[in-house]
Amino acid sequence: MRKKQFKAESKRLMDMMINSIYTNKEIFLREIISNASDAIDKLAFLSLTDDKVGISRSDFAITITVDKDNRTLTVSDNGIGMNADELENNLGVIAHSGSRNFYAENEGADLSDTDIIGQFGVGFYSAFMVSDKITVETKKYGEDQGYRWESSGVDGYTIEPIDRDAVGTDIIMHIKEDGDEFGEYSRYISEYQLSSLIKKYSDYIRFPIKMLMPSLEEGKEPTLETINSMVPIWHKKKGEVKKEEYDSYYQEHWMDQNPPLCTIPISTDGTVSYEALIFIPSQAQMQYYSDEFQKGLQLYSSGVMIMDKCEDLVPDAFNFIRGVVESPDLSLNISREMLQQSRQLAAIRGHIEKKVKTELKKLMENDREAYEGFFKYFGRHLKVNLLEGYGMNRELIADLLLFYSSTEKKLVTLEEYVNRMPEDQKYIYFATGESVSAVDGLPQVESIKDRNLEILYLVDPGDEFLPPTLGTYMEKEFRNINDDDLGFDDEKKDVDEKAFKKSFKFIKDTLGDRVDEVKASTKLKSHPVCITSGDGITFEMEKYFHAVSPDGIGAKAKRILEINTDHDAFKALEEAREKDPEKAKKYAEVLYNQALLIAGLPIENPTEYTDLLVSLF
Ligand code: ADP
Repeated sequence: MRKKQFKAESKRLMDMMINSIYTNKEIFLREIISNASDAIDKLAFLSLTDDKVGISRSDFAITITVDKDNRTLTVSDNGIGMNADELENNLGVIAHSGSRNFYAENEGADLSDTDIIGQFGVGFYSAFMVSDKITVETKKYGEDQGYRWESSGVDGYTIEPIDRDAVGTDIIMHIKEDGDEFGEYSRYISEYQLSSLIKKYSDYIRFPIKMLMPSLEEGKEPTLETINSMVPIWHKKKGEVKKEEYDSYYQEHWMDQNPPLCTIPISTDGTVSYEALIFIPSQAQMQYYSDEFQKGLQLYSSGVMIMDKCEDLVPDAFNFIRGVVESPDLSLNISREMLQQSRQLAAIRGHIEKKVKTELKKLMENDREAYEGFFKYFGRHLKVNLLEGYGMNRELIADLLLFYSSTEKKLVTLEEYVNRMPEDQKYIYFATGESVSAVDGLPQVESIKDRNLEILYLVDPGDEFLPPTLGTYMEKEFRNINDDDLGFDDEKKDVDEKAFKKSFKFIKDTLGDRVDEVKASTKLKSHPVCITSGDGITFEMEKYFHAVSPDGIGAKAKRILEINTDHDAFKALEEAREKDPEKAKKYAEVLYNQALLIAGLPIENPTEYTDLLVSLF
């Protein structure tokens, strides 16, 4: 029979498995059993709508068979099975998306096998860590022909038709001879060792894992025993499960190298009764940012998995959560379309949303560093969700936001800000800009700092849309520090504009359309000028619009040049206006360009500006 070749990356992975020095080889059993369980899940799902399946739920099982003489370990299931094409496609390539990405990212790098196995698990191929030959005999449900797939390693595999009655799959692993270490591989053909591995890694598999166990009493026949407790981890009471068990369940099922940030077991008997185990990842994985990312939770009803990624269970704001929901209330014959409209799902989703928020708030209060870590990965999504919904999720999200504070010099919550506000402070002050240091340097910030008031720095793209979307927080309005009315009783509202009218007109005439208005500032103390946008579109919004549609209509912010009339620079301009108008024009240009620079706006012609500056020396 002609051997077929593995795809290059599979070959590499397999080679790694065969020569593995990974110490935790035993995890192969968990991987093979988990595949068997998935295959049964698929057939169990079909049997909900297809009477011809003819297997009742109680007949589904995974059977482990040991043959010490031939050194084989067989894992059998009566699940969906595979046809020839599926054997070819499923076992000839790396299926695990985690490991596939890992390879794509690390093309050509010299990687120790520990990394990849430890981080992702490697599915079916992991069996090559303990086997020198693997035979798969299988027949797919609904088809007549059975097939055998066989491989002894990197030099390829064969597929041939076989006679086989039973639907399902046998994975027959020929276990390696022991090396120097006693029982290194023979433990995988010892019933007792296997039984403890099954209890350790696969206890919650919802189908019985059966094995013929030798009797401890002399002369007695072996008995077929169910090794696992079959209680899914989400059915167990909170106190019964150790953190490590939750962590490893999460990491194995969602192929995450990091343990979850929060684990939320839920069990309710309210209007909809359901059990769930929800995880908040501690980091966003690669695919979270890709277009292919699909939110979803696994959905079970009465022990049968009916959907692997049920989107309707996941609140949009928290699209990053992972986990399982099981509800006995869902009709099993429900079609996927009907599911989508199910009121029950919406009720569960609403409940999960509350639980996740509560958990995040708890984390925020008890472990701020961990929460900041979360916010780093998912804060952007929360903000986008708030903006996309035009503030619909205001109540949900506002409490979860963090902003940099001018006084605390770290990220703070809106609640902390408002609770700290002196009684006579009317508004929540914010400033927008490209970075904390850029905002910190804005002349307008100075006068508010002088009053010992706290300012929130909104420095992420799109942040400046948040205050108008939020409207108020704890009944306090937001106020951009560029605003003319900052709510100070002692604000020097009426600078004697008349006295400077001529100079302002002179500056406006010099700058032409580049500015919309020139006026005396109420905000500046030591700085000569600043540029503000009034209360319409801000500069940050302008940049944002420009970024999202570079050749669109591009809404423009107003440009108001605000002048500190007490400043020497302005006085010099006033003086020059009468004595040397050409020089005064140059001063006007300098002031305008300085204002642009400080605001982080591009100056139109840097060379011209430099020449102009130099000409004043
Ligand atoms: P993964 O389980 O992550 O998809 P694996 O390498 O473990 O990756 O398995 C590859 C694919 O082979 C599975 O997705 C499944 O389609 C198929 N497969 C493996 N074992 C079985 C089995 N016992 N019955 C049916 N299909 C199987």
